[in-house]
Amino acid sequence: MADEQVHLVAVIGAGPAGLFATRALAAQGCRVVLINRDVKPGGLAEYGIFLNKYKMKGGLRRQFQKILSDPRVTYLGHVTVAERGDLTVEALAGMGFDALVFAIGAQGTKYLGLEGERLPGVYHAKDLVYHYNRLPPFSERPFPMGRRVAIVGVGNVMVDIANYCAHFCDVDEVIAVARRGPFEKAYDDREFEDVEDAFDQALYREELERIRPRLEAVGQNPDEPMAAVAARGEPSPRCRTRLRFRFLASPRRVVAENGRVVGLEVEETRLERKGDRVAAVGTGVTTVIPCDTVVFAVGDRVDEHAGLPYRDGLYLTVPGDDPAGAYQVLDETAGKARAGVYVVGWARKASDGVVGRARLDAETGIKHVAAFLAERPKRPLAEAERVVDGLRRALAERGTTVVDYPAVQRLEAVERARATADRVEEFKFSSDREMLDQLRG
Ligand SMILES: Cc1cc2nc3c(=O)[nH]c(=O)nc-3n(C[C@H](O)[C@H](O)[C@H](O)COP(=O)(O)OP(=O)(O)OC[C@H]3O[C@@H](n4cnc5c(N)ncnc54)[C@H](O)[C@@H]3O)c2cc1C
Repeated sequence: MADEQVHLVAVIGAGPAGLFATRALAAQGCRVVLINRDVKPGGLAEYGIFLNKYKMKGGLRRQFQKILSDPRVTYLGHVTVAERGDLTVEALAGMGFDALVFAIGAQGTKYLGLEGERLPGVYHAKDLVYHYNRLPPFSERPFPMGRRVAIVGVGNVMVDIANYCAHFCDVDEVIAVARRGPFEKAYDDREFEDVEDAFDQALYREELERIRPRLEAVGQNPDEPMAAVAARGEPSPRCRTRLRFRFLASPRRVVAENGRVVGLEVEETRLERKGDRVAAVGTGVTTVIPCDTVVFAVGDRVDEHAGLPYRDGLYLTVPGDDPAGAYQVLDETAGKARAGVYVVGWARKASDGVVGRARLDAETGIKHVAAFLAERPKRPLAEAERVVDGLRRALAERGTTVVDYPAVQRLEAVERARATADRVEEFKFSSDREMLDQLRG
């Protein structure tokens, strides 16, 4: 309706958090512009969830398609909002939106500061995951995997990487390295079923016997995880890769010879109870785990160059007890909320949980955005459209090739046709150039 009155909101980042935030805003009658770095929407739902979880990805894609087909929503893909992006936060903030919601995920890398951490053959999980899920530019770089891969971390991402090694690469052995013990594992048993055929139960029992005294010292009984494993029975058929665990081992450095990784030096730890927590404490004894590839699967940080106030891996939000504050970006100079600027999802809490959690976080954040908007006057839809046109013009002047949602749908149709022709479940173009060429063609 020409005389309709609306609020105009920009959501930055079209992963699950940004998409569900968009849905919640559109449901309240807002006009929403969804700006996304990647050509295609979905974030880690498209480029993180494991390769062959086609059913889960398909279900999410269908939900996202509905959100993106809403006439209140404009998708602008292939646009980065960052210090050196297509637009800066300040430029976007000056364009006349009523609120900005940042849902840009956790794109920074959590370096542990270890010697050898940046050698060839040493990867951070997110980069490798983006690579095998074909997200440009990671899809365009080789990520060679050796025969013995040490994965640091024991969460669900470790399981995904082990799955990739065992079923998509030629890896003899995967060693999951944990600073603490089997009782502090962070992966879900359901997820672990995907690598059960690689899991070496005999080596697991051996490892539990090796650390038995250190577990018992904090009242943990190694017979419990042993019994749980025995109850699962031996998988059949077995896969060629052996997956083993190395508990109570804190990485110290990546050992290299002539620039090639030959091992991961770890310090043996013991456990100590600290209140409810069990902490790992170094013993000073070091050993080297022989391996030729190391993958750090220890979670991520937010991108410190996005242009939002940043400290220690997180964006700064308003401290204190007000629940809204946790979603409001802090204006550091004024010492209070930056009016109308919010963070949701993994941009608010890096590497925190599954898609359902990101959705809940986005929906909670949008409740606070709605309370803020309720205090602001609406404007005629036509006026909001002029702001959207102004944004498009600014991007065109910069030479940015914006990919809108109809273009994404055309691209996806071409990819589906290629998958059918190649008799594969899924086909994805692996560079932005290929995708943009397809669209121009
Ligand atoms: C390896 C791995 C496997 C996973 N497997 C599962 C699973 O099986 N099931 C499950 O439920 N969950 C899984 N998750 C968790 C799930 O992916 C996350 O909970 C969810 O994707 C977080 O959503 P988000 O929108 O906050 O961030 P993201 O999904 O990271 O989305 C961020 C979006 O922001 C965009 N962006 C980034 N920077 C900018 C910028 N500067 N300007 C504009 N746009 C930008 C990106 O292009 C991206 O689209 C997995 C996560 C990982 C890492």
